[in-house]
Amino acid sequence: MAKFRKIGILSSGGDAPGMNAAIRAVTRRALSQGIEVVGILGGYAGLLGAADESDPDVIRAKYLRPLDTRSVSNIVTRGGTMLYSSRCPEFKTEAGMAKALKTCHEHEIDAVIAIGGDGTFRGATDLTNHGIPSIGIPGTIDNDITATDQTIGFDTALNTALTMIDALRDTAESHARCIVTEVMGNGCGFLSLYLGIATGAISIAIPEMPFDRAYAINRIRDAREKHGKRGIIAICGEGMPDINGVKYGQDFADEIAASTGIDTRFTKLGHIIRGGNPTLRDRLTATQMGVEAVNMLLEGRSNLVMCVTENRITSVDINFALVLDRMYKNKLKDGDLEGFTGYQLAQMKARCEARHAKIKRLYGISYDICM
Ligand code: ADP
Repeated sequence: MAKFRKIGILSSGGDAPGMNAAIRAVTRRALSQGIEVVGILGGYAGLLGAADESDPDVIRAKYLRPLDTRSVSNIVTRGGTMLYSSRCPEFKTEAGMAKALKTCHEHEIDAVIAIGGDGTFRGATDLTNHGIPSIGIPGTIDNDITATDQTIGFDTALNTALTMIDALRDTAESHARCIVTEVMGNGCGFLSLYLGIATGAISIAIPEMPFDRAYAINRIRDAREKHGKRGIIAICGEGMPDINGVKYGQDFADEIAASTGIDTRFTKLGHIIRGGNPTLRDRLTATQMGVEAVNMLLEGRSNLVMCVTENRITSVDINFALVLDRMYKNKLKDGDLEGFTGYQLAQMKARCEARHAKIKRLYGISYDICM
């Protein structure tokens, strides 16, 4: 069993509800194993900032917060992240890494658990390669980490958005309007797809699937003229490309209005779906991932991303997860596949195909059911 005196925990990149539940779980699991825990404030920026200061009291107050059982009380219910988050481009540089390592060595941080998205995992793998074993926990509302079926925050964002789109339907129904709603997702259509099905959206535009606008507009016209539908909701994923500098959803709304005569509005749910109290599912997943991340470190393992696979908590190597992600998004770089075994490459391909198949299946359902 690996021995650690102290581990650092940080949240980085976009925040997501449930990050606090993961922070709490990591802290309490580590403390139960006799390991000290320090919260690194503001993501990787906290590690860098601490290296610039010399007064230990200033460092503790500004960048590093020792965590005990009580420091993480009453946070499981809260959205956001008590350790704050930021983007820190300097961390990607050699000078930035040198500062991060200085902080780890001076403050005896033996390992790091980093909650965030793929950028955060790249940081964690860099730390591991420089001698600080690190593990990533996927915290992002977008569910855009291919290695895991579910990221922390996805379920909460779905439920928050669900309530809001239901509310839009109320007003759409009263005024016989069509409302085109843009939903976040960072190029990943899962939020839009799930929400479209659950809210009965008549059309769902997501980057992963071809979107036939003329067909969608005909459906909208028929829904009104042939089936008497008053309130009409259309969903548009944030990752859809702008059209002549105009947001895809706005452009689509304008075209619906022009070609059907239906009073049509465009609205963006925006950042509001990134906040709020985490759902039961996000709290449970975050708690299990936090505990398992500490267990992995204790087993001497690192450079892993915690995942949910078929409703179980699992983990994969960060490099595997990052390349798998690029394979899924058709963004493979030269040399990406080198160093993986044939079995690993086959696993990656199978995972990409399964994810595509899931999206296609759900997309098909939406066309049959939502009208
Ligand atoms: P997310 O983790 O949500 O994907 P970002 O892509 O902004 O968000 O990444 C969060 C942080 O992770 C960055 O601000 C940076 O400090 C660190 N990071 C991102 N990419 C790299 C990289 N290639 N190498 C090292 N650190 C990185």
